Amino acid sequence: MNLILFGPPAAGKGTQAKRLVTEHGFIQLSTGDMLRAARSAGTELGQRVAAIMDSGQLVSDEIVIELIEDQLDTHKDAPGFIFDGFPRTVPQAEALDKTLAKRDQEIDCVIRLRVDEEALLDRVTKRFEEQGREDDNPETFKKRIDAYNAQTAPLLPIYAERKKLTEVDGMGSIEKVAAEIDAALAKQSGDEKKGFLSKLLGGNN
Ligand code: AMP
Repeated sequence: MNLILFGPPAAGKGTQAKRLVTEHGFIQLSTGDMLRAARSAGTELGQRVAAIMDSGQLVSDEIVIELIEDQLDTHKDAPGFIFDGFPRTVPQAEALDKTLAKRDQEIDCVIRLRVDEEALLDRVTKRFEEQGREDDNPETFKKRIDAYNAQTAPLLPIYAERKKLTEVDGMGSIEKVAAEIDAALAKQSGDEKKGFLSKLLGGNN
């Protein structure tokens, strides 16, 4: 099962992804975490993306697609991936489809965490105070939200049309959001089993 956790910055994707890793054995692929790790390690890539990240803009599609492909190759036997903060543009989504298809896989489920922008700003202001992430400062955060609305939100109707999208209220407690995500995943695997059975039984199921 390959899952995209979808939502604006600070919607709680990382928190929920980490829980899914612990409870279900998924591999979390967070391009934001990978880029931050590259920066901390002082790699050439880290140095190249630092200014863009600090400005709240998106780094180039080529960079993040390559990071994801490397990870898919590294974890060939994984039971499933959670894509967290990726894809963020239409070309990234297309590249993801292609690279998964090459591995006989696909995106099974896209879960959108819905949150309102004012609550997000509160969350991020708190995270900025606690963790001091440069791109969490309120001015830059607004730019990250703008990038989400302009470049990432257009992916929602694409996944909706493919019947992959489930909306979850991201404003509840961590546990409540977790329960809704689990229900969406259970429904998705039930639907997959039904589809499989129906094919097996000649479409009468
Ligand atoms: P995040 O922690 O996911 O909010 O990512 C932090 C920053 O890393 C973003 O504001 C972007 O500058 C960069 N970034 C992370 N993931 C992507 C992506 N899929 N495409 C482009 N830029 C990304």
